[in-house]
Amino acid sequence: MSHLQSICEPEDDERFAYFRSLFYVPEGQIYLDGNSLGLLCKPAEIELNNVLSGWREHGVQGWTDAKPDWFTMAELLGTMLAPLIGSAPEEVIVTNSTTVNLHQAVGSLFQPRGNRNKILCDSQAFPSDLLVLKSQLQLKSLNPHDHLKLVQPDVNGWLNEQTIIDAMTDEVALALLPSVVYTTGQLLDMRRISSAARERNVVIGFDLSHSIGAVRHALDEWDIDFAVWCGYKYLNGGPGSAGGIYVNNRHFDTIPALAGWFSSDKSRQFDFSDTIPFAANAGRFQIGTPNILSMAPLIGSLQLISEAGIDWIRNRSLALTDYLIALHKSDLVQYGYELATPIDQKRRGGHISFIHPEAMRICQVLRSKGVIPDYRPNNIVRLAPVALYNSFNDCSHALKLLAHIVEDRLYEFVSVSRGTVT
Ligand SMILES: *Cc1c(COP(=O)(O)O)cnc(C)c1O
Repeated sequence: MSHLQSICEPEDDERFAYFRSLFYVPEGQIYLDGNSLGLLCKPAEIELNNVLSGWREHGVQGWTDAKPDWFTMAELLGTMLAPLIGSAPEEVIVTNSTTVNLHQAVGSLFQPRGNRNKILCDSQAFPSDLLVLKSQLQLKSLNPHDHLKLVQPDVNGWLNEQTIIDAMTDEVALALLPSVVYTTGQLLDMRRISSAARERNVVIGFDLSHSIGAVRHALDEWDIDFAVWCGYKYLNGGPGSAGGIYVNNRHFDTIPALAGWFSSDKSRQFDFSDTIPFAANAGRFQIGTPNILSMAPLIGSLQLISEAGIDWIRNRSLALTDYLIALHKSDLVQYGYELATPIDQKRRGGHISFIHPEAMRICQVLRSKGVIPDYRPNNIVRLAPVALYNSFNDCSHALKLLAHIVEDRLYEFVSVSRGTVT
C-alpha cells in the first residue's frame, strides 16, 4: 500500500495537519461518516458559545445587539455560502431543514398548467425528497401515481444524463435531481441537465445535500432554478443544523408557498402587518423565527471551509477517493466487495460506496473496531474521507479492516438486528 500512498498523497501535509487539528476527531476512532454528520470544529464551537454569551448578556436585545446580530444571521450565512453555490448572496438563504426547504421550493415553483403537470425525479432519490414530491402533488390534487415520473438507473446502478433529459417531455413541469446520489456517490452533470431543462421549459432543481462543501457549484452559470441542501453533512454545522435554499433571481417575485412573518421585507417586518411586502430576494422563502442555535456553528465551519478553499477541498477529496478506489482494486475485490461509485473523477462526489451482501453486519464490526462507516440498505457500505480531517492512513486502515472482516468471517459473530440510525 505504501507505493500507492506516495502516488496519491498530495504535498500538503502541513496544511492538512493544521485543518485536522481544528476538528474534534473522536478519541480512538477513524471517522468516515462526514457525509452523514460532519464533525465539530473549533471555530463552530466558538461561534455557538458566542451566541450563548450574546443571549446571556443581551436577552431579547441580542436580536439586534449581539455580534453578529441574530436578526440578519440567515442573510449573513447566505452571503458566506454564496461562493460555494456559485451565486449572488441574495439568492441564498440559510433556514429550516432540507425537507422543509424542498416543500417551500417545490410548493412555490411547481405550477402545473394544462398537460404540463408532472414532476420528474429519480427512482432512487432520498426518501424524504420523494415524500415531499408526492405530498406537493397531492396538495395540488394530482395523483402521485400518475404525476410523479421516475427515471430508473442503468445496469451499473447509475443515472444516465441522456435518459434524464429524454424523460423531460412536454408533460414535465418540474424536475428535481440529486447533485450526488446518496447511495452510489455518483455526481451528475448539473450543467448539462440544467441547460436541457431550460430548453424544454422545465423548472430544474437540485438537492445538493451530498455535494455542498465537497464539490464546487456554479448554479448561476448553469442557470438552475432552485437548490436545497443540508447544513450538517460536509458543512459541519452540527446535528439538525439549518439547511439552505438557493432561488435564481428570476424567481424573486414568486409568492412563497409557505409564508410567514420572516418571509417579509426586513425593513417592514416590525410593522406587524399581515400585508407587508415579501423580501425581494431568497429571504422571502424563510417562514418563521430562525433557529439561531442551529445556525451559529455554520458561521465558524464556513469560515474554515473558506480558509481551506473549495478547490483545495475538492482536490484532496478526489485524491482520497482515488486512493480508496485503487485499494479496492488491489485488496478488496477478492473479498466480494463491488465498487458502486463511478471511477471517473468528474462523475464522483465525496464518498465511495461498496456493495457487499453482508454490508450490514460488516458495518457493525467496523464500528465495534473504531472505524465509523455509514450503512445504507440493503447492501451498501459508504465511506466518506473528508478532505479537512481524514488522512490517507485512515483510508488504508479502514480498507485493511474491510478485507480482514471478510477473510476471517468476523461478521458471523454479529446478530442481524440493526440500529435505527445510520
Ligand atoms: C441528508 C439528506 C436529507 C435530509 O433532510 P432533513 O430535512 O435534514 O432531514 C434530504 N435529502 C437528501 C438528498 C439528503 O442527503
